[in-house]
Amino acid sequence: LLATSAALARIRPSRTNAITDRAIELREGGADIISLSVGEPDFPTPPHVVEACKAALDAGDTRYTAVPGTAALRQAAALHFQRDLGIDVPPSQIIVSAGGKQAIFLAMMATLNPGDEVVIPAPWWVSYPEIVHFAGAQVTKIETDAASGFRISPDQLEAAITPATRWLLLNSPGNPTGATYPAEELRALGEVLRRHPRVLVMSDDIYAPLRYGEGAHATLSVECPDLADRILTVSGVSKSHAMTGFRIGVSAGPQWLIAAMGRLQSHASGNACSISQAGAVAAFTGPQEFLTDWRERFRVRRDMCVAAINAIPGLHTPVPDGAFYCMIDAAPHMARFGDDEGLVMHLLEHGVAVVPASAFGGRDGFRISFAADDARLAEALRRIAGALA
Ligand code: PLP
Repeated sequence: LLATSAALARIRPSRTNAITDRAIELREGGADIISLSVGEPDFPTPPHVVEACKAALDAGDTRYTAVPGTAALRQAAALHFQRDLGIDVPPSQIIVSAGGKQAIFLAMMATLNPGDEVVIPAPWWVSYPEIVHFAGAQVTKIETDAASGFRISPDQLEAAITPATRWLLLNSPGNPTGATYPAEELRALGEVLRRHPRVLVMSDDIYAPLRYGEGAHATLSVECPDLADRILTVSGVSKSHAMTGFRIGVSAGPQWLIAAMGRLQSHASGNACSISQAGAVAAFTGPQEFLTDWRERFRVRRDMCVAAINAIPGLHTPVPDGAFYCMIDAAPHMARFGDDEGLVMHLLEHGVAVVPASAFGGRDGFRISFAADDARLAEALRRIAGALA
């Protein structure tokens, strides 16, 4: 009688529940567990952002705003898209939502029908397939591995697309792999997409400011401007500006899609938090120099992790080009632990919480986040080495 929906039944509860439960149990029992499982910077939110929020509160900015966001934030987001991603877009083609996550949810719910297919390269961000399933569509998985830099090839994309394909979800730099598509590879994918005019592309560039390579960040709508009218570029402040709790995401795309997302948002949540929007204006228009320092600190941690992990027998990780994760292959250890969840449980008993590759549509490995305090990170790496010795 009191049943939940068929749509809800299509999404899986978090695969990592058992691991999280065990971590809580161990902590409650007094164990010291170092968490390398969360995807958020450990740096404090910049003070000028915090001040802007206080000022907004004092000024009484506590009411509903326009559904797609305040004029000030859409303007600031246009600046961000131009300055940081090279995308020229008017504020009218930008929508502000409660995190990048909500933007992706809105875009899928507003466009997918049962029977549609969505192409997602794996390992993928955990929410992509669940959102697609909730919308009633099917996932077409493209497998990638460390040997291919966790990036898809044009041939793989061509083979994955069918007449039912509606979206390609592209994430660069990627979570969980850190894989980052260079401009020429995006242009090659664009060639394939030109042959399939019905396919939309969601370019999730939320980690763009956290790139360790040389040169500018490459993004599909800049590399293939003729495709821009079917590309939704998702960005935000959560990862770049240590503002995960603010829940602000910004997306740029064709007018019809931005309008469709706004129509849905108007009934789902309305505007994103007014105070957070004021904070995001400060994040986009205020000083950006500190990001260079943060990126440098992440780079040092990345190098420390890659060196430590690759020194442990049976573990291997490529060097991630962006974001703050290492995707670690642990295939030689699978015989001992059964599968990657068994391995992750074992690491937990040794005081480190990580996420199994299977949670991301991968296998035989795990992901660590290096957005953690340097000393704790070093200790966690020692514990992983000890646990697998
Ligand atoms: N896209 C990717 C690839 C992510 O890793 C995340 C957060 O983990 C998001 C989008 C969503 O970020 P937000 O916190 O802005 O909703």
